[in-house]
Amino acid sequence: MGLLIFASCQQNPKMNDNINPFFQEWNTQYQVPPFLQIKDEHYMPAFEKGMEENLAEIDSIVNNPEEPTFENTIEELERTGKLLTKVQRVFSNLAGSNTNPKLQELQRELSPMISAHYDKIALNEGLFLRVESIWNNRENFSLTDEQIKLLKDTRKQFIRSGALLDSNQKEEITKINSKISELSTQFGQNLLAETNGFELILDDDELDGLSDGVIAAASESAAQKMNEATSPEEKAKYENKYVFTPHRSSMYPFLTESTRRDLREILYKSYVMRGDNNNENDNKEIAVEIANLRAQKAEIMGYKTHAHFILEDNMLKSPEEVYDLLIKLWEPALKRAKSEVLDMQAVSDSEGNNFKIAAWDWWHYSEKVRKAKYDLDEAELKPYLSLDNVIKGVFNTTNKLWGLTFTEIFDIDLYHPDARIWKVTDKDGSHLGIFIGDYFTRSNKRGGAWMSSFKGQSNLDGRERPVVVNVCNFPAPVGDDPSLLSFENVTTLFHEFGHAMHGTLTNVTYPSMAGTSAPRDFVEFPSQVLEHWASEPEVLKSFATHYQTGEPMPDELIEKLLKASKFNQGFINTEYLAASLLDMDWHTITSDVVLEDANSFEASSLAKIGLIDEIAPRYRSTYFAHIFSGGYSSGYYSYIHAAVLDSDGFEAFIEAGDVFDETLSSKLRKHVYEKGSTEEAMDLYVKFRGRKPIIEPLLKVRGLDGKPD
Ligand SMILES: [Zn+2]
Repeated sequence: MGLLIFASCQQNPKMNDNINPFFQEWNTQYQVPPFLQIKDEHYMPAFEKGMEENLAEIDSIVNNPEEPTFENTIEELERTGKLLTKVQRVFSNLAGSNTNPKLQELQRELSPMISAHYDKIALNEGLFLRVESIWNNRENFSLTDEQIKLLKDTRKQFIRSGALLDSNQKEEITKINSKISELSTQFGQNLLAETNGFELILDDDELDGLSDGVIAAASESAAQKMNEATSPEEKAKYENKYVFTPHRSSMYPFLTESTRRDLREILYKSYVMRGDNNNENDNKEIAVEIANLRAQKAEIMGYKTHAHFILEDNMLKSPEEVYDLLIKLWEPALKRAKSEVLDMQAVSDSEGNNFKIAAWDWWHYSEKVRKAKYDLDEAELKPYLSLDNVIKGVFNTTNKLWGLTFTEIFDIDLYHPDARIWKVTDKDGSHLGIFIGDYFTRSNKRGGAWMSSFKGQSNLDGRERPVVVNVCNFPAPVGDDPSLLSFENVTTLFHEFGHAMHGTLTNVTYPSMAGTSAPRDFVEFPSQVLEHWASEPEVLKSFATHYQTGEPMPDELIEKLLKASKFNQGFINTEYLAASLLDMDWHTITSDVVLEDANSFEASSLAKIGLIDEIAPRYRSTYFAHIFSGGYSSGYYSYIHAAVLDSDGFEAFIEAGDVFDETLSSKLRKHVYEKGSTEEAMDLYVKFRGRKPIIEPLLKVRGLDGKPD
């Protein structure tokens, strides 16, 4: 049974307002979800019906009297769950980018339900028996390589979900999964509450050191809060004030510019103490509970630890391999970080200060070092980096690499006025997909930046092209000025766009293998490799033009920017590696270890590697959403593993002497961006690069090779 199709809808593209939009065919342009028609109350019935339909589809596969074949089992499985996927994609996207209390409540209610639903399918014995029988007879089916890989992955997924366990164990796993799912949702919601729950409200005389732009944004943010306030007392609180928050987009400019050390300390601590305030949003016990449950699950599944269980599926196959890579990078990173502290201390001492550099001083003094040592002022760059220009820049880059063109569409209603939508066309004029960009920060959006899809890709029953989305937290325009980005924001935009390309160029038969469905420590390669183009002078020059004068970024400034790319790499790598090692430590505990307190666990993990006081891990445990409410447990290292790949991969273009080298860019597209998970990740990399990856280009790019800058 497929999607419910109403005869009237087929002839008439208008949707019926009296029927839940999820139960109708979307005759919208490019099947973009009809956002204006979808109301909060439509989700639950659609989820319920979606799950019910999905189970009925599974039953009909299991009860098929014919002998199991690839077509009647594996391929049919790929066709199941269309309604559920349809509602799930819209819901999870909007719950992340445009949430409200009702969606949050639904999220809490739904997450254990959905997890239990998928467990029911994964633990369906009749279904597994059919899969197993096809696997055992695979020689007799004359399957393509893609089909063999799908069969292998499907079978592995069943086994990893517990198909080989006895019924008591299966029940135990289901319970653990649904408990973890519930705790993860709670973790994320606590974190959002904590991030939104703190405000540093300042007066005119507390703005020392802040630039006009930062002051204007803080004043705008106070005005917005005043608007949202419901009582006169609350309104008065914000009148003629300036608001800073622990959102990075608000905090980093403040920490960089403010000369009020006391206020920097307050704002910084509000950030690093999120989830650790012993209030109703505390995440310490949740972290411990999740780690314990994962250890128990790993034991039932027959693995030594959760990390062993997770890594089996990755490019790096064991915790030992991961620790080995991280430690190799840790020593040079920490060494460089320590020398950065000395540079900052020297600046501070020369100003006649009498204090030791602390964690909340890092941004302020590193900026001074940057100006002194690299003569680069971030504020000088920003006028050249308006959001619109950067978007044009990334579009041009993919045009030169693969011949893609982007056409903005203005007559499709999206879920928020900030979101924009483009049609993506291939070089032969064919339709490749739809790209949505939702770039500005707002309080009902979770922090960070990510890519997701509203519709996937498949060639199974005709050519289905995807609808992908990038969500970021860039500063919104202030007054008449456009949104101006930092260079870090530019890199983020290229990064997420790389994921979007992975989701758009994908060209596989089966939906479950499409786009970003690659191993975790490979999936950041297509995103990170694209970042390299952002800092290529020829590319930068093409898009970085001054928003007022139209002048391109001067060569001298580009040169300074590139030289400064090694600036602060000690800090960046140290905070990242500390978090990666913390993640690995949380997930290499065995089930017999009794974890008591998240803070002491974290402290001992960090002491073990000798992390210095001036740096906190990129994420402390209580706000480490990647591992406790996202899918990155034992996987945070993936970014640096992918960085090994992207540095080594981009080096190929450098060696070729042309960053748009045709042979390489078409290999990159064909073997990486188009392939999803249809082949082993290492095989794909080798087909593109001609050999396995090496670590040296990364050390060079990040200034960790011990050579002077
Ligand atoms: Zn990414």
